[in-house]
Parts: sequence; C-alpha cells; structure tokens
Amino acid sequence: MLFENKSTSVFSEQTVYADRVKLSILNIYGENPKACVVTFGCQQNVSDSEKLKGMLKMMGYEITEDWALADFIIFNTCAVRGHAEDRVYGNIGKVKQLKKDKPRLIAAVCGCMAQQESVAEKIKKSYPYIDMVFGTQVFHRLPEFIYKQLNGSPRIFELTLDNSDIVEDIPVSRDGTYKGWLPIMYGCNNFCTYCIVPYVRGRERSRDPEKILEEARAMIANGCKDITLLGQNVNSYGKGCDHGINFAKLLRMINDIEGDFRIRFMTSHPKDCTVELLDTIRDCEKVSRHLHLPFQSGSSRILKLMNRYYDREAYLSLIKEAKARIPDVSLTSDIIVGFPGETYEDFKETLSLVEEVKFSSLFTFIYSPREGTPAARMADPVTREEKGKWFDELLRLQERIAAENVKNYIGKTYRVLCDGYGSNEGFVTGHTSGTAVIEFEGDEGLLGKFVNVKVDLYDGTLKGTIIK
Ligand code: SF4
Repeated sequence: MLFENKSTSVFSEQTVYADRVKLSILNIYGENPKACVVTFGCQQNVSDSEKLKGMLKMMGYEITEDWALADFIIFNTCAVRGHAEDRVYGNIGKVKQLKKDKPRLIAAVCGCMAQQESVAEKIKKSYPYIDMVFGTQVFHRLPEFIYKQLNGSPRIFELTLDNSDIVEDIPVSRDGTYKGWLPIMYGCNNFCTYCIVPYVRGRERSRDPEKILEEARAMIANGCKDITLLGQNVNSYGKGCDHGINFAKLLRMINDIEGDFRIRFMTSHPKDCTVELLDTIRDCEKVSRHLHLPFQSGSSRILKLMNRYYDREAYLSLIKEAKARIPDVSLTSDIIVGFPGETYEDFKETLSLVEEVKFSSLFTFIYSPREGTPAARMADPVTREEKGKWFDELLRLQERIAAENVKNYIGKTYRVLCDGYGSNEGFVTGHTSGTAVIEFEGDEGLLGKFVNVKVDLYDGTLKGTIIK
C-alpha cells in the first residue's frame, strides 16, 4: 500500500555538509577522528542519539565511549527532572579540562534541556567552552553545525521549534541488533501541567506509515527481533493526518510484516487507549501482551490539576476493559507522588488504585518542579521529607503485589527472547511477551533467539528450564 509522503526530507542538504566535514576532519585530525555521544534520559533520546551516531559515522568519525579520545563530544540531554539537569551541568563542566588537553575538541549540547532558552542562556554565559547548543527539531543539521565550527564560525545557538514536517532519511547507527527503537511520532499536544515535553519537543507530528513500514522491514531484515515503537504519546499516532491510519491500524500493518519478531510501544496515554487498540493487541500475535498506561495519581482531584483528561473511574474502567479483552496482559504504569496540593487523602487513593489493579511493575517518581510549567507555579506545602515517606509506602505496597504476582508464573511455559546474561556464569535471561524476565541455563549463542522456558521457581528472580 502506498501513502502520500508529506514529510519534507531536507536531509539531502546535510549530506553535502557531511562530505565537506569528512574532508576537513581528515586534514585537521588525521586518520580516524573520533566522536563521543553522551546520552541522558528516555528512549526517545537514545533513539535520537542513534541518529547522531549515524550522522557522525557518515562524516567519517569513529564512535568512541572514551571522552578523552574524542575530537567531537556531544551531550544529548533530558529535561524531565531537575536531577538529570544537574548531572548534565556536572558533565559539561568537565569539557573545560578536556579542551585544555585537546584544544581542537569541538563540544556540543543538544536535546530537551538544550531546547529551553534559559538553559541555552546559562551555557552561553557560564560554559564558554561549549561550541554549539541546538534543540530537538534541528538536530539533523549536525553536519552543517560541525562544518561551520570547523570553518571558524562563532558559537552556534539554534533553538528553532517550528513544528515543521519530520525530516526523514537521517542515517541511524543502532546500538543493538536484535532490539531496536522505531520512532513513529514526535511531540505532544496534551500539556499535562507538570510536564516540559510539549515546550521542548513541540506539537504532535506523525511519520508517514510507509516510512515506518519501510524502516520496520529493514530492521527485521537485519535481524531485529524486538521493535519498540516510540512516541511521547504513541497511541495518538495519525491524529490530524489525512492517511486514515491510526495507531491500532499501524500496529496491524507492522504485525503483518513477515518474520519472527515482537512489537512493543511506549508511551501510551489512557485518553487515547481505545477498544480498537485493545482488540488489536489481543488479535496480533507479534504485539507484546504489555500495556504501559501511566495513571500518575489515583485521585480525580489531582488528575484534574494535572490536566490528564481522565478521572479515577475512567481509568479503572479502561483497565477492566483491557483485562477482559486481553486476559494475559501485563500492566505497568507511572506514578507521581507529591504533586503540588496533593494531600495524604489523595495519596491514599493512589495506593488503593495500585491495590485494585495489581500492576506488574511501576515507575514511581517524587514530583519535581519544571520551570515554565503551570505546576511549578502551584502551591506545594508538603515537605520533601513527607513525600519521601509516602513514596516508601507506595514502594512497599508494590513490592508485596509484585511478590504475589510472581507466583502466577510458576509451572507455566513462556516464549522468551534471550536478551541478557544471568547472574551466574552459564545462565542467560529472556523477556516474555509481557514484562517478566526469566533466567535459565544457556550461553551467548542463545542471545537474540526465541526459546520456550518453563518457570520452575522464584528466588528473587524467576528461574526456568528450556523446553525443547
Ligand atoms: S502526555 Fe506525556 S509527554 Fe505529553 S504532556 Fe503529558 S506527560 Fe508530557
């Protein structure tokens, strides 16, 4: 099936710069100039870093993990939590010494944190040894920026966020072979009051389905067995596009590609989780039996303050529907503890929701204010210490639920993708179609392969035996 391609592929301009950089760096640094990409934050950033590495390789750089060897270093940053930002400042501060040792080193900062004007201003004033700062919608212009730096341009600050069309055909250097990220849409329109994403990633923009299918086919042909579809709000895929392909339909199309592989996706918003999507997960044998549905708070009052577009009752009825339609579904969620104005009574509603749903696992965070978001201006009288106690209470509850959940695995057989080494030599681990990890006897020859494993016991880890 062919779709009208509305993406403007302006990357071809960059290939011209890439060729010029290739020649220049050979002259300046000699054989094998090296580049280091330091990534902070979420899977979207990891995926963007794979593109940064793809472009750097295209320009003739060899990728290194060793900062001291690098002739070009780039920090791909995250803005979701204050702690992550502090770590970035700590790391970019180290560039000063690196540049003393290697004066021709070029240093760059990009990503969500760099997209914020206040951050770019701070780097401009306080980190004069950073040569370029650029945002999330212009990172494909890396060849141009490096070319300009090599040719004596002043420091580059480029934060354009104009929500223009998606740039396709950027080369990708994937970190793994049998597991891979596949971005399908970018940005978010939801404006949850605590979240910085809509301000630093822009409005929702979906890739053309044909481009996504093309990339998925190539990944599968290269041995990928586990594809994770990425989007800040992945299940709103296709909204506002005239091709008529929504997220559920896209899943079915990827499921129809020939080959033995799994499809995962993140992150979904409960308001866009439709019955059609639930039935698609049930019907498509390659789609993982896993639904990550962040609920953030069990209190309808707090959900309203968060601008989440659903209340406690709507979320619970969605979970009921998901369990009824996909009986073996593994449910996970994100929770924010201590949102401004949250009382212990509100928090108890989060506890009761967790008790009721019985999630496989949870990603829990204590609220961290993000400058520029509405929540950062709300009164927040509860102390960090008090929030810490609530947080611990939530962790204890989830530990008990997880220990109960795990008993359901004993004696059953699961098809797993071997994707890691076990805690002892001669053992490997594998992920089920849901979220469980099982350890069993095997060697590295199994990595990237599917096997059936019967779970024998749980001793802090699920342990099993391969069934031939
Ligand atoms: S839906 Fe997710 S990415 Fe979008 S504003 Fe809310 S929390 Fe942020």
